[in-house]
Amino acid sequence: MSVLIVGSTALDSIKTPKAENPRLLGGSASHAAVAASFFSPVKLVGVVGEDFPKRYLQLYKRHKIALEGLQVLPGKTFHWSGEYEVNMNNRRTLLTELGVFEAFSPELPAAYQTTPFVLLANIAPALQHHVLDQMRRPKFVVADTMDLWLNIALGDLLKLLKRLDGFVLNDSEARQLTNDDNVFTALKKIHKLGPKYVVIKQGSHGSILSGPRGLFLCPAYPLRAVVDPTGAGDSFVGGMMGCLAAAKGSVEDNIRRAMLYGSVVASFCCEGFGLQRTARLQPAQIEQRVKELREMTRV
Ligand code: AMP
Repeated sequence: MSVLIVGSTALDSIKTPKAENPRLLGGSASHAAVAASFFSPVKLVGVVGEDFPKRYLQLYKRHKIALEGLQVLPGKTFHWSGEYEVNMNNRRTLLTELGVFEAFSPELPAAYQTTPFVLLANIAPALQHHVLDQMRRPKFVVADTMDLWLNIALGDLLKLLKRLDGFVLNDSEARQLTNDDNVFTALKKIHKLGPKYVVIKQGSHGSILSGPRGLFLCPAYPLRAVVDPTGAGDSFVGGMMGCLAAAKGSVEDNIRRAMLYGSVVASFCCEGFGLQRTARLQPAQIEQRVKELREMTRV
């Protein structure tokens, strides 16, 4: 089965203590779509401007990502810039130029409206709603978010939570949403807002799933060197959704394994700037790390 992914398609200028890379292919949907493409067919919904480099379109195409839902509008592509501190965890946004994103309204081609798996990657909750309004009985809908939407669009986000099967957010966002420092009581509070599955991401400490079968603690792959963690969260959820779409059986039976695969793709994402490492990834390299993670966590 395939996954529909809507989110930002961006040019990212990223600065780390060691290097600076301007105008890389980025955006929540780009990272998630490439990650998902290792497992299942992907349909991308987003918007870029006329300045969007052809080589980035080629990169999507090399990963067999369907682009009928990618609008190309007159104007500039969404441009985001961020700078990491020495610890590579703390990040400061330097610049957000919305460009064509400002007037973006995701319109789904008719053939996309019956896609069984839907990932509403990080984008304004009103746009996530607009995509869901066009879908016909999807099997499994997951959304991601960011602190910006908790600050400026909380009402829309709370309404969205009632329409989701799964919600993915990071630990600081979970604290902000629930006013609770304890991740396990925060998970319970988020379930009460709607979603049956809640995943809290904890960066290099992995992630925690809470679902009908209880908790699952998903490890992060241990990396000795992080080049650029931008998009790791998007790669995690993209990999997870791709894996779920490809699997036989129920979401409940497959979600733990899918998280392990998502975690591994996210680890590769951190080993290069932007999508540079992920885009060169081979399926055998994913399998190798999944095997290692299974061995490292077996009792
Ligand atoms: P992450 O590292 O998982 O937080 O995701 C980083 C990605 O989010 C980058 O590729 C950015 O282009 C994208 N991004 C940054 N700000 C926004 C925003 N306001 N809306 C949507 N995407 C954004």
